[in-house]
Amino acid sequence: MKILVINAGSSSLKYQVFDMENETIIAKGLCERIGIDGHLKHTPVGNGKPVFDSDMDFPTHGEAIAAVLDKLVSEEYGVVASMDEIGAVGHRVLHGGSKFIASQLVTDAVKDAIRECFPLGPLHNPANLMGIEACEKAMPGVPQIAVFDTAFHQTMPASSYMYAVPYKYYEENHVRRYGFHGTSHRYVSAEAIRVMGLPVEGSRIVTCHLGNGSSMAAVKDGKCFDTSMGLTPLEGVPMGTRCGSVDPAVVEFISNLEGISVSETLTMLNKKSGVLAVSGVSSDFRDLDKAAAEGNERAQLALDMFNYAVRKYIGAYAAAMGGLDGIVFTAGIGENSPEVRANILKGLEFLGVKLDAEANNCRGKLQKISAEDSRVQVYVIPTNEELVIARDALAIVTAG
Ligand code: AMP
Repeated sequence: MKILVINAGSSSLKYQVFDMENETIIAKGLCERIGIDGHLKHTPVGNGKPVFDSDMDFPTHGEAIAAVLDKLVSEEYGVVASMDEIGAVGHRVLHGGSKFIASQLVTDAVKDAIRECFPLGPLHNPANLMGIEACEKAMPGVPQIAVFDTAFHQTMPASSYMYAVPYKYYEENHVRRYGFHGTSHRYVSAEAIRVMGLPVEGSRIVTCHLGNGSSMAAVKDGKCFDTSMGLTPLEGVPMGTRCGSVDPAVVEFISNLEGISVSETLTMLNKKSGVLAVSGVSSDFRDLDKAAAEGNERAQLALDMFNYAVRKYIGAYAAAMGGLDGIVFTAGIGENSPEVRANILKGLEFLGVKLDAEANNCRGKLQKISAEDSRVQVYVIPTNEELVIARDALAIVTAG
């Protein structure tokens, strides 16, 4: 069966088509500037057909999906003989609230629940739903599957997910920690348990998803026990442009100082903060590494703050789980920066972490980077959220 995987943003739509026979990608692409003008880059994979890369008119997500489907079956750029070959569509959905602990076949009730979570994911959930509805219209009868970024974290105990604010905000307004990047944490923690040959019961893994957005998870017995992002993705370690955890009083202080609203202040803390703001250089860790090597002290400080925050979470989660068997690094920084990994792990020898410097000198591939005599095994595991979405979609349509 072929599965189309969609990641719809407010003005963009990323897609991949998997042949689930051997879990290979047969096409991928990106629609950009939806609602502005429009551009489609469509890449057939492995069949020798050319890349389509051109401006197109995308007033809504509907036209973007129609253009993608047209390319998938076209003589010149296509990868399937007809749309009948696509057995299901898997959609990445940011926020499933407390309702969903697993991926779901999209029904009217599921769409209502995605809509109910608009206040919790105001930028992403409306776009995710637009992607689902555009596919429903363009591919009637093809099962649509929603895969939630929050679902994996739903196993957290209340002591991990509650905030100490008046209880009515939890009861009436669902204010609590949800966590994000769940599909990634789920995939790499399961891979770690598999490659380490650990029994799932009793396993204790810390997963570090370090990319433009970064989050940490404590995975105990194969289930999420705690995670660093919260009600929204702003909490946790400092990120490319997000501040991570700060004293909430900072919000009022800055908003009074600048004469801007709480919402404008939060936009600043989401988009103009993090390592970008501390360094004054860039949100991209490659630029920070370069600037720090050239003696830029603020770039070095931003890197130090990031590494320190990640290290603190590893220590905290080891304590939370009563021990540690494995640490996993994934996503753009986690997979590609030996320097960041080495600096994060510095000082964790007391926990039983011993790095193999030579093995750590790797990028973008599954690799054990701890020494043979390290009690805690450390791995780089490239994440693959799209494959998890395709697998979930296949499992749901074949079961139902
Ligand atoms: P992601 O959000 O997972 O796509 O990660 C993107 C981020 O990964 C970029 O903004 C960079 O900060 C980081 N990154 C990618 N390649 C490297 C590299 N070779 N060294 C350090 N950081 C990298």
